[in-house]
Amino acid sequence: MSTAASPRPVERPEFEVAIIGAGPGGIAAGVKLKMAGIDDFVVLERAGEVGGSWHENHYPGLGVDIPCYANGRSRT
Ligand SMILES: Cc1cc2nc3c(=O)[nH]c(=O)nc-3n(C[C@H](O)[C@H](O)[C@H](O)COP(=O)(O)OP(=O)(O)OC[C@H]3O[C@@H](n4cnc5c(N)ncnc54)[C@H](O)[C@@H]3O)c2cc1C
Repeated sequence: MSTAASPRPVERPEFEVAIIGAGPGGIAAGVKLKMAGIDDFVVLERAGEVGGSWHENHYPGLGVDIPCYANGRSRT
């Protein structure tokens, strides 16, 4: 008697690309995908809002009083 399992059906993904996490990295990945002409993607975020660490951490009154280029992200 054969006990070989029948092959499972291959499910077609709903999206071409899935980005896990809507922190700065996930948002930047989405921007890059759009710039590359790829619109068939989804960003999956477990938190209630986007922003990742930058959304979760709050420092009331904190500010930057000097020119700061470290947080700039290249658009090229
Ligand atoms: C207090 C603090 C200050 C910082 N200051 C700076 C700064 O001034 N400049 C700087 O460049 N960087 C700073 N950073 C570093 C900062 O964490 C990173 O720059 C940035 O947040 C990294 O982005 P990320 O998208 O890779 O990760 P994260 O911001 O951590 O985002 C990851 C996201 O993925 C989600 N996620 C994780 N696992 C899953 C899952 N299984 N399913 C669904 N969603 C998931 C999380 O909920 C989160 O929203 C700071 C970090 C902290 C904690």
